[in-house]
Amino acid sequence: MPTATRVTVLGSGDAFGAGGRLHSAYLVESSGATFLVDCGTTILQAMKRGAFDPARLDFICLSHLHGDHFGGVPYLFMEYLYQTCRDRPLPVYGPPGTERRVKALFSALYERQGDEPMPFQVRYHELSPTTPTTVQGVAIEAFAVPHVSELVCFGFRIRVDGKTIVYSGDTGWTDEFVERTRNADLFICECSTWETRLDIHISYPEIAARAAELKCRRLLLSHLGAEPLRRRDEISLELAEEGLVIPL
Ligand SMILES: [Zn+2]
Ligand SMILES: [Zn+2]
Repeated sequence: MPTATRVTVLGSGDAFGAGGRLHSAYLVESSGATFLVDCGTTILQAMKRGAFDPARLDFICLSHLHGDHFGGVPYLFMEYLYQTCRDRPLPVYGPPGTERRVKALFSALYERQGDEPMPFQVRYHELSPTTPTTVQGVAIEAFAVPHVSELVCFGFRIRVDGKTIVYSGDTGWTDEFVERTRNADLFICECSTWETRLDIHISYPEIAARAAELKCRRLLLSHLGAEPLRRRDEISLELAEEGLVIPL
């Protein structure tokens, strides 16, 4: 039986763990591949709460190199070293600098293991907005989003099993999302604040004002910060919950 195409929310919180929520991670299961979109530091807790077998993971796709989005990669390495045997390669797709930052983080957290060869290969691939990538039948289009100036930050438009998932990554609001999310089956959009307006994150009033213009079939707000969580009774758009499974 082919796997049904679906997305599971593994982490729906912001960098500060607002509301006790976990760091960003979304599991995509499709007929040809099982992969992560972002891999925050709490990835193992999230996988184990959902009884997901880490051995099934084919690859990882990182939006940007902030800890709440890529900090879980070394913990996955530790899982594969000591708990869930892995000998097949683990491809890691991400923005420029992914290999350097992941290796440095692994060494900082587990110095000896970071310096020793691993029994499985980690294959790093840099994504570029000009070159869409296809991995195991999954077409990944990275596009630059306005988050922080010191990093290249991506959103993704992912096409899998005839379905389209758009992920905002961390970003300020940009009208580009109107075009990017056209006909998407799912748009996972960050919503970090409410009263506080920032160039680097989206506030609830900003997304609420534009939601009607988005021609996606389902809009899910995630990367939820303390402000929107405090006022969730006033929110009419759908909020992500950890463990939420979205069939596509
Ligand atoms: Zn973040
Ligand atoms: Zn960020």
